Amino acid sequence: MPVLVMKFGGTSVANLDRIRRAAKRVGVEVANGYDVIVIVSAMSGKTNELVGWVGETSPMFDAREYDAVVASGENVTAGLMALTLQEMDIPARSWQGWQVPVLTTSAHSAARIEDIPPENIMSKFDEGMRVAVVAGFQGRSPEGRITTLGRGGSDTTAVAFAAAFGAERCDIYTDVDGVYTADPRVCSKARKLDRIAFEEMLELASLGAKVLQTRSVELAMRYKVRLRVLSSFEGQSGNAGTLVCDEEEIMESNIVAGVAHSRDEAKLTLLSVADRPGIAATIFTALSDANVNVDMIVQNISEEGRTDMTFSCPTDQVGRAEKALDAAHEQDVLNFQELVADTEVAKISVVGIGMRSHTGVAAKMFRVLSVEGINIKVITTSEIKISVLIDRKYMELAVQALHDAFELDKTA
Ligand code: ASP
Ligand code: MG
Repeated sequence: MPVLVMKFGGTSVANLDRIRRAAKRVGVEVANGYDVIVIVSAMSGKTNELVGWVGETSPMFDAREYDAVVASGENVTAGLMALTLQEMDIPARSWQGWQVPVLTTSAHSAARIEDIPPENIMSKFDEGMRVAVVAGFQGRSPEGRITTLGRGGSDTTAVAFAAAFGAERCDIYTDVDGVYTADPRVCSKARKLDRIAFEEMLELASLGAKVLQTRSVELAMRYKVRLRVLSSFEGQSGNAGTLVCDEEEIMESNIVAGVAHSRDEAKLTLLSVADRPGIAATIFTALSDANVNVDMIVQNISEEGRTDMTFSCPTDQVGRAEKALDAAHEQDVLNFQELVADTEVAKISVVGIGMRSHTGVAAKMFRVLSVEGINIKVITTSEIKISVLIDRKYMELAVQALHDAFELDKTA
């Protein structure tokens, strides 16, 4: 029988009632003739609570025990989901990650899936079991310890199972009904997309659209797993969600697929650093050693052997960045006049694979911002994305103006 993967996020299994509702959807697909692999998250809020308990017990916690505690939320929902399905006379059982087994690296709290041997679950399907309920987010290290895949990791579990079992599709049930052209809370004209290409979704996810874990999109793209994002709160009919798929499956699309924003950005500038080989290496090694996630980087034209270097990072990492650069300054590895931080900026990006073959998107974006009187502080581009840093107070205005200008409320 064909296999379908259905993943239910925390809000979709938040209590027994919602687990029953989710189980009914599984029942529909079983009746449609699928063998179903259900991946469950912990009940919403549970993982945060477990993370909190670990921190309160042991400030410098052992990452292996962190994983042992934090993985437990998914064990509860997996067992409850299997019981609910059994109550509906659907042959089902639950599996924890180590039982399948989901084999991962030993990078505790951020492990990567290396292999999912399908034999155990397949033999149960062969015996007549119709639903395998698997605890998301967790696996087993080569040392035999429980691992977790990083927050939001059950999306990645779901895609990995879809790839390992050659599933027809991977349905991600969540509390939103799909992927939008912009965040609907910021832009009331935002429109749900019927389809979006893997590359575009990857950019949007890494730009902070929280609907899918970035890693899960990478995996889906690599193994060409068709992913559907849909709401578990809406009725079955007319709830097709958004299909994340290969660009060949999308006939017509706008040049720009969406406008993304990221609120908590900061811009740091080193004034007057020596312009000589090795200086960028020194700066960004110090930052990476301090675990600062640098995003945009701009170096000015130099004058008299001195230059300015600007970069951006999340606002909550500014303290770490300043400390690392000041330390390098004091140790004379790096010499600069001043370090200036601007913590009141936001990043706005337009994303679309159409940019590969159409010119003028950047010019239009800059024109729209200039008409609104919004100053651009930093610009970066990639093949399918243009990002700018602007004053945070103009963030909503910029998203709305760009959404209007690129006519994202209309289909192609
Ligand atoms: N329960 C985990 C978390 O909250 C994993 C997940 O739900 O995807 O991060
Ligand atoms: Mg999630």
